Amino acid sequence: MRRKIVAGNWKMNNNQSESNILIHSIIEKNSENSSCNIYVSPSFPFLKDAVLTCSKSNIKVLSQNVSHLTNGALTGDVSCTMLKSIGINSVIIGHSERRKIFGETNEVLLKKIKICLENNLEVFFCIGEEIEARNNNKHFSVIENQLKETVFMLEKIDPKNLVIAYEPVWAIGTGLTASPEQAQEMHKFIRQKFTEKFSESISSKLSIIYGGSVKPSSAKNIFNQPDVDGGLIGGASLNANDFSDIINSI
Ligand code: PEP
Repeated sequence: MRRKIVAGNWKMNNNQSESNILIHSIIEKNSENSSCNIYVSPSFPFLKDAVLTCSKSNIKVLSQNVSHLTNGALTGDVSCTMLKSIGINSVIIGHSERRKIFGETNEVLLKKIKICLENNLEVFFCIGEEIEARNNNKHFSVIENQLKETVFMLEKIDPKNLVIAYEPVWAIGTGLTASPEQAQEMHKFIRQKFTEKFSESISSKLSIIYGGSVKPSSAKNIFNQPDVDGGLIGGASLNANDFSDIINSI
């Protein structure tokens, strides 16, 4: 059985008290949920508070980013060992905003993935194509290339500490969601590539989640697809009711 996952990507939103209120509300609304792994991702300054607040709940805390090195002259960066020291066990790597706005390449993303796995941090690795690629029928080759230059450079992977988030860039924050069929087709393709690179026993245990404008109204049909194991949720994760409705769609 693959893990079902619903993770909120809060991005650069919520100050300390807003983060606190949202986390408490998510805990309260989902305390009975045992059908999926639920994650929240406040910004760096509030991660430690979040870990403490969530410690006796079924909610896990996810960092939105991490450095590619453990320490040194990297002004403004936060390392995986720092995150571990405050009780963080999971990190998002390769979000399209990090790739686009901060120029993170597959090369640097591979370094981040490696250092996190070496330090026992679970990695949520994001991949996704731009609209031009999809319109030109290049979406499968773009995704394959993103995998080849990153996770497929690893000798082995463990589905217990790697999650793939398929996030078509044209669907992130745009209100345009991939159709359930488009999501299923791509997730199946990604799983097939993991089978070819590693093995069927690994790919069948790998959680592949979908991200891109998932709303309470669209979650169920997307999550019902056989190769979709949950979602990475941006905008809708900032509202406890919407996020909980999405969680309950699993
Ligand atoms: C995201 O940023 O990972 C995301 C999926 O955002 P949204 O749900 O707002 O499209």
